[in-house]
This record gives sequence, structure tokens and C-alpha cells, in this order.
Amino acid sequence: MKKGNKNKTMKKNLVDRRNFIGQASLVVGGLFLPRPLQSFSIEPRKLGVALVGLGKYSTNQLGPALKLTQYCKLAGVVTGSKEKGEQWAKDYDFPVENIYNYDTMSQLASNKDIDIVYVVTPNGLHAQHAIAAAKAGKHVICEKPMANTVAECDAIIAACHAANVKLSVGYRLHFDPYHQELMRLAKEKDFGSFTIMKGNRGFVMAKKVWRADKKLAGGGPIMDLGIYIIHGACMAANGKAPIAVTAKEYVKTKPEMFTDVEEGMDWTMEFADGAVCTATTSYQHSSDTFSAEGNKGWIAFKEHAFTYKGMVVETSRGPLSFTPPNQQALQMDDFAQCILSNKKTRVPGELGRRDLVIIEAIYKAAATGQRVEVKV
Ligand code: NAD
Repeated sequence: MKKGNKNKTMKKNLVDRRNFIGQASLVVGGLFLPRPLQSFSIEPRKLGVALVGLGKYSTNQLGPALKLTQYCKLAGVVTGSKEKGEQWAKDYDFPVENIYNYDTMSQLASNKDIDIVYVVTPNGLHAQHAIAAAKAGKHVICEKPMANTVAECDAIIAACHAANVKLSVGYRLHFDPYHQELMRLAKEKDFGSFTIMKGNRGFVMAKKVWRADKKLAGGGPIMDLGIYIIHGACMAANGKAPIAVTAKEYVKTKPEMFTDVEEGMDWTMEFADGAVCTATTSYQHSSDTFSAEGNKGWIAFKEHAFTYKGMVVETSRGPLSFTPPNQQALQMDDFAQCILSNKKTRVPGELGRRDLVIIEAIYKAAATGQRVEVKV
């Protein structure tokens, strides 16, 4: 059915249902009954999302989360594999016309089913795919890290601005209650200002994948894992960025795997009020912890600090216990609502850029052995 006809039919059905309800309210049991105060209204259309890149994060998290969202739904994909795209079209009930490949993204411009393009490819491809989406007039969500470099972040921000579309970064932890509590504590200073922060995040990389390839990943674990500690420390600093960093790369134990990226990094971040975050990340150990301490108390993310399941969080007042929501569903619904009501997203491109400024300073500090000032 053509769209115009479909709309006419929907309006007619609505009018018919209103008439029916109106008449029914007058005649039930021969008694006069008041008309219902609430009339039917047309449900707003869910915004259509197209996922770019159908790897692990799209398959295991974003796709399933899009089945839980209220304001958006999966309406298409951009993939290098036509067969995979067709399987997704079946699983998520969208037309095969909404399957694109990385070279046909400009054709998204004429697809009215798709409002938001969510870039979930390797980091080094985010800029290319996000800019293509913006040029096609689509709102953009870019996975973390937003891009390989600050210059690429600037190019994405400029493209979205020029196309007058909204831009967000996949910082799902802003929608997690434990991290929201961290932000609240930082703001309201229940434990005083946090002055001592510590973070440790790593996993053991068994075989080389794109995450250990500089062109595709932008760097090593600091890009993929360290960024969470950087972001968490800025949350604990009530949204402020550090003013300076020092850093030292780990000695490589698998130089054949980590040819052009670090295998691990120790670094510190100094904040303007004297707070310091000491952090480490690597592809040679397993960890996921973060803590922040003030002069009146502390909060410690003891397990799964930055993931979506199994967080164990304690404070100097006792353990925290929240029902874990689906972070990705909340994140995508929030972005959809920002578009629908023309509000600013709480996780804009500028936050993604800020973290890349800090990462570039950390790489410079590691390369020079010097303390490097951070200029966001
Ligand atoms: P993945 O390797 O599982 O998937 C990457 C996808 O990109 C694959 O479908 C692959 O086919 C496609 N691709 C296109 N061009 C490619 C190329 N030249 N080389 C390699 N792959 C190519 O990776 P992933 O874990 O899904 O990560 C994708 C992005 O999502 C990354 O930016 C990552 O940092 C981010 N991510 C975020 C979270 C989070 O919690 N926010 C979690 C996991 C991954």
C-alpha cells in the first residue's frame, strides 16, 4: 500500500473507532453514560535505526536491545555480507530493500524508514561511516571510541552540523544506575569531592584481531578499554576533564602480536582541583575495576565496573543494589526521544572528542616520558 493511502486508511480507522466509542458510550444498557475522557490517538512511529557493521556488539547487544526499545526499532542494516543482511531482515522483520553495503550508504538518503544510523564498525572506520550517514541526512550514533583521532572526531562533528543532524556516542554507562549514582555523588559531594581515583581494565587477547591493528583500532587497549576508565574518572570529577597526564607503556610480552600498538599502558590523570586518577589497561591481564574516594567516603566498582552485567559496587555506606536495566535500549530510546522532541543528547559527539583529546595526550606522554597538558 502507498504511504499516502496508508495514512488515509489509518485516519479513517481512527475516526471510525472514535465514532464507535462515542456512540457506544451513549447507548450501553439503554442508560446515558458519559463519553470517555480519553480519546484514541495514533501511536507515534518508532524511529528506524540502521546498524552499520553486524559484528559481536551489534549481534549480541544492540540488535536484541532494539527489540526492547519503545521509541525506535531496527529498520535496516549496512553490512559487507548480503546473506547476513538477509538473515537480519528475517529476524528483525524489515524489508530486504533496507540492506545496504559500505559502498551504498549514500542511498540511505532516499530511505524514509531509516532515521538513525548507528556505526558499529572498527574504530578506524567510524569517521568514514558516520560522515556518510550524516551526508545521507541521517542522525548518527557512533560507537566508542568515537574515532581514531581528534581530527576525525572534528570531521564527524562538522559533517553532522552541516547536515543538521544529531550526533551521539555509544556511552551506554550514562544510562546505568550505578554510574548514575557515581555522577550524583560527584555532583552532590556526599563523600566530598573525589580526590583519589583508580581504574584497572584488561582482557587477554589470545589471537590478533583488528583491535591490535593501529589503522583499524587507532591504538591498543587504551582505545578499547582504557577509554572507560578515562570516561569514568571524568564522571567522578563531576564532568571535568583532566588538566594533565603522565603515561608509560608496558614492556611487550607478545611483540609479534602488538606490532604497532601498545600491549598495555599505565597512566595518571591530574584534575584542576588536585584529584588524581591512577590507571592501567592491557591486553595481557583480566580486570574491570574502578574506585573513587573523597574525604568523607568512597565508592568502589569491584567487579564488571564498565560492563552491562554483574556489576558489584560497594560504598563506605554499604553495598549498592540496583536492578540492571538494558543500558543499550535506554541509550537508543533516549537518543530517539532527543530527536523527537529536539532536545540535546547527554552523550554528544563533543564527549567522544574530549576522550580522544585525553587519549592523544596519554600517547604523547608515553612517547616523550613527559607530563603532557590536556587542552580539551
Ligand atoms: P567485531 O569485530 O565483532 O565487529 C566488527 C564488524 O565490522 C564486523 O561485522 C565486520 O565484518 C565489520 N567490518 C567492516 N569493515 C571491516 C574491516 N575492514 N575490518 C574488520 N571488520 C570490519 O567488533 P565489535 O566488538 O562489534 O566492535 C565494533 C565497535 O563497537 C568498536 O568500535 C567497538 O569499540 C565498539 N564496541 C562497543 C561496546 C560498548 O559496550 N559500547 C562493546 C563492544 C564493542
